[in-house]
Amino acid sequence: MIKETLAELVAIDSVSSRSNAPIVEYLEGRCASLNFTTKRFSYIDEFGIEKINLVALMGADFSGIPDVELALVGHTDTVPYDPNWTEATKLTERDGKLFGRGSCDTKGFIAAALTAVDSIQVRKPLALIFTADEEIGLLGAKHLAQAKPINVRYSIVGEPTSLKPIRAGKGYSLAEIVVKGREAHSAYPALGASAIFRAARLVSRLELIADKLKEQRHPAFEPSFTTLNIGLIRGGTAKNVLPGECRFTLEWRPVPTQPSSHVANLVKTAIADEKSNDPDFECEFQVTRADFGFETPTDSPLISLMEEVTGIECGTVAFGTEAAHMMALGSEPVWTSPLGTY
Ligand SMILES: [Zn+2]
Repeated sequence: MIKETLAELVAIDSVSSRSNAPIVEYLEGRCASLNFTTKRFSYIDEFGIEKINLVALMGADFSGIPDVELALVGHTDTVPYDPNWTEATKLTERDGKLFGRGSCDTKGFIAAALTAVDSIQVRKPLALIFTADEEIGLLGAKHLAQAKPINVRYSIVGEPTSLKPIRAGKGYSLAEIVVKGREAHSAYPALGASAIFRAARLVSRLELIADKLKEQRHPAFEPSFTTLNIGLIRGGTAKNVLPGECRFTLEWRPVPTQPSSHVANLVKTAIADEKSNDPDFECEFQVTRADFGFETPTDSPLISLMEEVTGIECGTVAFGTEAAHMMALGSEPVWTSPLGTY
């Protein structure tokens, strides 16, 4: 039964760039046959395509803002696949494992959830939450957290962890930094200003910030502090021209006790320091993403339950998921999936 459900889910191509309406229609049908009440929470993505978060309730309805004891959360979208992979949407069994795009992340969890709720007696309100656009920046979960259609006490987010319950994850932030210079022939540097030399000075300051961030530790994590990376940098137009612009991408993963703005403020201070040394220093700093982390206390009853049923001690990871956005719905989240590895 669970395998058939998974095969049906995998057969519906739900790569993030497409509308997830077909898989949502399928899930609506399955939920209706399980006597869940469903409601769509739609939005239009940046390419004008409709994306749908689906919430299904048992033991509660959508009048007012219902209180839900437990939510099982899975995203409907998948990452793209190589067109040469002819069996991407055909669930295939090999060596006791099931292959297909999304079969692990997270259609396996969705199939497991649909199968499980069929065989349990629901005593307290239960929700199934199916989100859109998780793979491209948790966009569906962000929309849902903003709409706040339900209050959730506990949630289980079905990401692949080899069954290890994950009770905390770091946040994720990105910023684009553009340092300006003034182009001139390199034979006459006094006539211009090198954006790359300026950027290099700022980058050195950011490296010092990365060191300083090691002082604020969160022992549950490995590494136990907020990390910072400049993964992309580009600037200049020719070997003999002083570069007029240098831009780089700054990424940081804050521990959950630290707001994303902490690093942003340190960067602003570093820029101000550069300006005080060089009045011509010109720089744009734009935070493009600021996903917060999450942490469920070790003494949460959900943690003990998950450890008991999996037989695996809960842990933490250095990246984020929709769990953080489930907190916006009032929930203590934990994150695990019965299938696959991460
Ligand atoms: Zn996932």
